[in-house]
Amino acid sequence: MKIGKIVSIECKCGYQLFRYFKAGKGKIIKCFIDKLEDDFVGIKGMETYSKPICPKCHKELGIIMMIRGKAALKLNQGTIKPIRI
Ligand SMILES: [Zn+2]
Repeated sequence: MKIGKIVSIECKCGYQLFRYFKAGKGKIIKCFIDKLEDDFVGIKGMETYSKPICPKCHKELGIIMMIRGKAALKLNQGTIKPIRI
């Protein structure tokens, strides 16, 4: 059985940024773009090294990088609300 669940990723200002399927347990460090659901920021389609910002408070959410050949958002831990699974 596959372990994981959909979690809501929110900015510290309270804005819901997107939902993400998190496999396994632990802190979310990065999010693979193709696993984003309900992308409220418009992260999908952004180029590598883009820095998406929160539509509400305009803080940087992180940076888009290629990880093992796939686009992923490396989260800025200072901006994202901590998530526990
Ligand atoms: Zn914000």
